[in-house]
Amino acid sequence: PAPPLGSSVIPVVNKLQDIFAQLGSQSSIELPQVAVVGSQSSGKSSVLEALVGRDFLPRGNEICTRRPLVLQLVQTKKKGDGSEEEWGEFLHRPDKRFYDFSEIRSEIEAVTAREAGENKGVSDKQIRLKIFSPNVLDITLVDLPGITKVPVGDQPTDIESRIRTMIMSYIKKPSCLILAVTAANADLANSDALQVAGVADPDGYRTIGIITKLDIMDRGTDARNLLLGKVIPLRLGYVGVVNRSQEDINLNRSIKDALAAEEKFFRSHPVYSTVADRCGVPQLAKKLNNILVQHIKALLPGLKSRISDALVSVAKEHASYGEITESKVCNAGQGALVLNIISKYYEAFASMLEGRNEEL
Ligand code: GDP
Ligand code: MG
Repeated sequence: PAPPLGSSVIPVVNKLQDIFAQLGSQSSIELPQVAVVGSQSSGKSSVLEALVGRDFLPRGNEICTRRPLVLQLVQTKKKGDGSEEEWGEFLHRPDKRFYDFSEIRSEIEAVTAREAGENKGVSDKQIRLKIFSPNVLDITLVDLPGITKVPVGDQPTDIESRIRTMIMSYIKKPSCLILAVTAANADLANSDALQVAGVADPDGYRTIGIITKLDIMDRGTDARNLLLGKVIPLRLGYVGVVNRSQEDINLNRSIKDALAAEEKFFRSHPVYSTVADRCGVPQLAKKLNNILVQHIKALLPGLKSRISDALVSVAKEHASYGEITESKVCNAGQGALVLNIISKYYEAFASMLEGRNEEL
């Protein structure tokens, strides 16, 4: 089965949202954005799709992603009868729910052409898509056009610097996690992905290296040293993946089959089976989950102080009642009670997160 991004973090986030809701505040937790960067056709869209576990992005061996796609995953509740509904909605078409994910792809292609022309043009105007599903966590993923050097079709002569500027506008934000994608059959030392990520995040605190196309490396070579960070070290490390080939895409091979094939590839490979913790989309999802949990942990002290502030103000309110009517006492008493419950709930939550961290 596909390992949807964040699956192991979903219960944690839900608990936290519950606490916020009971505190009666509008604010909720904000998870970092995740953006993919790299050369054209390195496999960026394929990696995003595999993480979401659904087929819906234009992919191919020519330039396909020609406008930034901001993909907001929105968690919905399962329906009463336990059935699951998943659909997409575009900002530019708020009236329509797309239940058929291949229709989402056609719509992306159509609005790409509308803004950026039919002939390989690129535009920095966003496409905004929301995917509603009970199996996702509220996070934003950004699919970006790849870096190209030689203008083709309607592309202007300064296409490379235009695309770099567009990419930087997303990944320079300190809250953006960067998936820096390099194909294994390209030279890592010439990686556009690592170059641009290195400019945006020089200390490497928010860059994960991804090596795609491990299945089509030159015979007699492998990516073990790349994955171990022996070629270009990266603080958060690398994950190697195998996505669908162009032939798989032409044959309409499903994402589920592709993930099963990837698992088999790594399991039976003499080299990659020795670095299994750095191989495969599930490992990438796990790495991202881990980073998200760290992010959530960093939010906890702020939450804790908000709970105690609220407790203090209820206690003051309680004390301030001079001439008491029954209903006032009742209100204040209930406020204190609710807050005490939230505070207990918080403690339980925080210790659950501690336990989770060991398990990751
Ligand atoms: P993007 O331009 O970086 O978004 O790349 P795409 O995801 O569109 O993929 C470009 C081409 O490379 C497509 O034809 C994919 O089928 C192919 N591709 C991507 N990843 C892999 C991989 O891991 N193995 C193989 N064999 N082909 C891949
Ligand atoms: Mg793409």
